[in-house]
Amino acid sequence: MITEYTYKFRLNPNKEQEQFLNIQFGHCRFVYNYFLALSKKEYEEKGIKWKYSLYQSMLPILKKEYPFLKQANSQSLQVSLQNLDTAYKNFFKGEAGFPKFKKKKSKQTVHIPQHFAIEKVSKKRGFLKIPKLKTPIPIKMHRDIEGQIRSISITKTPDGRYYLNVLTRKEIQPLKPVNKTAGIDVGIKEFAIIYDGENTHHIENPKYLQKSEKKLIKLQRQLSRKQKGSKNWEKAKQKVARQHQKIVNQRKDFLHKVSSAITKQYDCFVVESLNIKGMIQNNKLSKQIADVSWYEFMRMLEYKAKWYGRQIIKADRFYASSKTCSVCGYKNNQLTLSVRKWQCPVCGTQHDRDENASKNLYQIGLTHLTGGRAGTVRTQACALHQKVQAQSQRDCGAGSVGGLLHKQIGDHKGAVSNSGQSTRYPVMKQEACCFNSE
Ligand SMILES: [Zn+2]
Repeated sequence: MITEYTYKFRLNPNKEQEQFLNIQFGHCRFVYNYFLALSKKEYEEKGIKWKYSLYQSMLPILKKEYPFLKQANSQSLQVSLQNLDTAYKNFFKGEAGFPKFKKKKSKQTVHIPQHFAIEKVSKKRGFLKIPKLKTPIPIKMHRDIEGQIRSISITKTPDGRYYLNVLTRKEIQPLKPVNKTAGIDVGIKEFAIIYDGENTHHIENPKYLQKSEKKLIKLQRQLSRKQKGSKNWEKAKQKVARQHQKIVNQRKDFLHKVSSAITKQYDCFVVESLNIKGMIQNNKLSKQIADVSWYEFMRMLEYKAKWYGRQIIKADRFYASSKTCSVCGYKNNQLTLSVRKWQCPVCGTQHDRDENASKNLYQIGLTHLTGGRAGTVRTQACALHQKVQAQSQRDCGAGSVGGLLHKQIGDHKGAVSNSGQSTRYPVMKQEACCFNSE
C-alpha cells in the first residue's frame, strides 16, 4: 500500500541559521495566535465559526500592519493557518479541545511545503536549503530517503535541538503470512508479556530507560531547590529539558523495536483497550511515562499492522483478562492489583498475573480468527468475541531495527520449545534515533 512516512533527522544550524529559524518559528506562532485570538472572540461572543478562506484573505492585511512578517516564508505562514483551521475542525467535531495558543517554550514547528532542497553529500551528512535562507543547514543524515518527498517541517524541541521532518509517500509491501497469533498484555512490572500459543515472552523495560528516568527525577529535585529565575535555575531547567527529551527519544526507539518485531512475528495480535490499566502505583512521573508509552505503543502497533497487512484486535476494556483463569474460565474477583501470583480454586492452576492475562488475550485472537469455532475456546471468550473490534493494519519503517528484535525473538523461540515455558529477553541495545513521527 502507499502510505505517508516521515523521516526525522537532526539539524545542526550555526548561530546565524538558528537566529533565522527562531524568527520563522516566532512569526508562524504570531500569526497563529493572532488569528486564534480574533476567531476565539468571534466564536465566543457571536458563535461565528471562521473558515480558512477568511484567514487567508486577512493575511495580506496583517502583513501590511506588521511589516516584520515579510521576513517569514509566506507559505509557512499559510500552513500555520491551515493548522489553526484543522484545530478548529477537530474541536467542532468533538475530537479535540478548543485550540490553544502556541507558547514560545513548547516545541516549535515551521512547515515548508515547497521550494526546499535536501542533498545528501556523504554517508551521514547532508544539507538542507530553504526559502529566504542563503546558506545550507547541515543535516545529520543517518539514512537514505525513499519514496516521494511531499513536504518538510523543522522543529525545535524545548531542550534547544533542531530536527528536520521529511514527509514522504512510499509504497510498503505487506509481509508474508506466518500463521501466528499473539496475546499481548502490557505489564506493570515489565513492559509487555506476549503469549503465542506455545511460549510466554517477557519484554522488560530497558535498563537504560530506567536509568534515564531516575536521572530525570534527580535533576528535577535539583531544579526545585534553585531560586526561581536565577542563573543556576535556568541552567538546571535546561538540564531537565535535555534529559526529558533524551527519554522521549529512547522510549520511542524502544517502542519502535518492540512493535516492529511483533508486527513481523505475528499475523494477528490481541491487545487490551487503553485506559484499563491507568492504575500504576508508582510515583507520578513514572506513571506519566508508562501511560504515554502504552498509548504510543498501541498507536504504533495499529499503524504498523495496517502498513504490513496484519490484524490487530482490541479486547473489550471491561474484559477481566487478569482475573479470568486462562485454563478453566473461572473469574477471580478477589484478585487485587498487588497480587502477582494466584492459584485457581476451580482447576488448581498456578497463575502469574500478567502471563495469565496474555494467555486470555491470545484465546480471543484464536476465537476471532476461527469465527468462534476453536475447540479450546471458552464461552466467555466467545461472548467477548462479539464485542471485539477488528482493527486493521500498518508498517514499520525501522526495518533493520525491527529485524534486530525479530532475530532475538526467533533465536529464543528456537532455544525454548517446551510448551508453556517463559522466555526473558535480554535488554536491547539502543540504536541511534530513527523514528517515524506524526
Ligand atoms: Zn481455573
